[in-house]
Amino acid sequence: EERIIAGGKQDADDWQYSLRPRRLAEYIGQDQLKHNLTVFIQAALTRGEALDHVLLYGPPGLGKTTLASIIANELGVNLRITSGPAIERPGDLAALLTNLGEKDVLFIDEIHRLSRSVEEILYSAMEDYALDIIIGKGPSARSIRLDLPRFTLVGATTRAGALASPLRDRFGVICRLEYYDVKQLVCIVKRAADILNIAIDAQGAEEIARRSRGTPRVANRLLKRVRDFAQVTGDGVITAALADEALARLDVDQRGLDRTDRTLLRTIIEKFNGGPVGLDTLAAAISEETDTVEDVYEPFLLQLGFIQRTPRGRVATPAAYHHLGIPLKKEEQE
Ligand code: ADP
Repeated sequence: EERIIAGGKQDADDWQYSLRPRRLAEYIGQDQLKHNLTVFIQAALTRGEALDHVLLYGPPGLGKTTLASIIANELGVNLRITSGPAIERPGDLAALLTNLGEKDVLFIDEIHRLSRSVEEILYSAMEDYALDIIIGKGPSARSIRLDLPRFTLVGATTRAGALASPLRDRFGVICRLEYYDVKQLVCIVKRAADILNIAIDAQGAEEIARRSRGTPRVANRLLKRVRDFAQVTGDGVITAALADEALARLDVDQRGLDRTDRTLLRTIIEKFNGGPVGLDTLAAAISEETDTVEDVYEPFLLQLGFIQRTPRGRVATPAAYHHLGIPLKKEEQE
């Protein structure tokens, strides 16, 4: 079952291609990162060189793919898009790399999921712009070196820590994407509404922005669903009241949490006495994968200050009790 508030890509998101900003100047927020990239891109253009390899990390839906396409645009080169799991064998990577033009951008999403054998040939590709390939088997096997065009690898991952350090070290530019604040999300919602011809007032945009978990992809998706309610049950205009009613029906609460988030918090509070509870135990208690809890649910709950990581496990904070309307026990108040 797909969660409407999931930051990850879903099939129905294809329409968002039209919502992708094409230039850095159109890209809302992430100011420091944008400023640095502008300098690096300008410098590469001035020297007539390929841009250094760029690693983008942060939770899903914050704009990593969008940035990769903007980088290619600003450099005036072609962009090839792939992902870690899609590159199964070294030959697949070799085919991609040998087809790149001079200074092109290769975007590898979920780069932490590359197989070891693919990752190893990526090292020399990134460092020397060359591929060492073994041809044949057994005693007749020999290694040949293929020269590659100078290219820019843009890698994306949810956690920089998930990357092997030899890979991480080969990126000249490492940028972390931050959750967006409400003001920035209001701009994103208004821009999307404009492009999609959706009538929305300022309060309606703010209501959606506040409940979008700091994530542009979620903001765009909620906008689309709320529009359905506006057209069917309202008069076509998204107001705060209409957005509130629609989001309540979609089970997205005031802070953007859905049922799974609340179940996770409730589990810590009710089953584990507020914590600390180990990540594996917590994941098992709500029947989720440990990785999913760590990469998908937890980052936003940490951001909101609803949970804390401690050496002994996860702890629900007083803010979480308050949000769920559960009274704090005496000793927890002290
Ligand atoms: P990621 O690759 O990090 O999962 P994407 O780049 O696919 O995220 O972004 C998801 C959607 O959010 C895009 O389709 C785009 O419309 C929107 N988006 C992301 N970042 C921005 C931004 N800074 N300004 C405006 N829209 C954005």
